[in-house]
Amino acid sequence: MSKMEKLEKIYKNLKEEKTLVLLKPDAVKRGLIGEIIKRFENSGLKIIGLQMVKPTRNLLDKHYPKTKEWVENLGNNFIKTCEEYKIKVDLKKDFNVNNVYELGLKVREWLLDYMCSGPIIKIAIKGPNAVEIVRKLVGTTLPFKSPPGTIRGDFSIDNPIIANLEKRAIQNLIHASGNKEEAKYELNLWFKKNELIDYN
Ligand code: ATP
Ligand code: MG
Repeated sequence: MSKMEKLEKIYKNLKEEKTLVLLKPDAVKRGLIGEIIKRFENSGLKIIGLQMVKPTRNLLDKHYPKTKEWVENLGNNFIKTCEEYKIKVDLKKDFNVNNVYELGLKVREWLLDYMCSGPIIKIAIKGPNAVEIVRKLVGTTLPFKSPPGTIRGDFSIDNPIIANLEKRAIQNLIHASGNKEEAKYELNLWFKKNELIDYN
């Protein structure tokens, strides 16, 4: 492939890049829909699909990965936060689980409970680097660490210690696809082809 052909391929992929955003139940209940959507619009990215839905647990179970790596990561993130507070977690005694994977599964169940606790807004967004730009606007997973100017940093304060002792997921307002593969899978799961409407 010539250099020009490579550039044209990248150009085409950039023009076609799409990502999925879900405004979680806490965003809807707190009346933050407009505020959050405005930030995506302001960025210059284009909204090509948008709807309020009450997702089934089954759909959410398909949405969140079940791979060992992903589930263990959920568990490990919590342990990392505990370590920052100089607390050594005893998985068996504290959470009645045998390993990090089982802890992750527990967190995943809380996450499903949270995500089907009310209506959510599903949004398809298109534009160059849509995945990365949306993640940047959203901020980091833990709201108290998410910088000011990000959606999570500006509008949420939740902390995993508080969330996990209350046996619930971290309320961080938004889901956004983590990478292009996730985006493709998730858009396919949440939107029918004819629900995505492109325009100039
Ligand atoms: P999302 O996938 O929702 O955009 P994310 O990619 O920033 O968020 P993930 O690591 O994929 O974060 O975790 C998915 C969701 O699980 C988080 O958004 C949060 O709501 C919840 N979560 C993550 N870690 C924990 C934890 N230790 N305790 C409770 N909930 C958690
Ligand atoms: Mg994620």
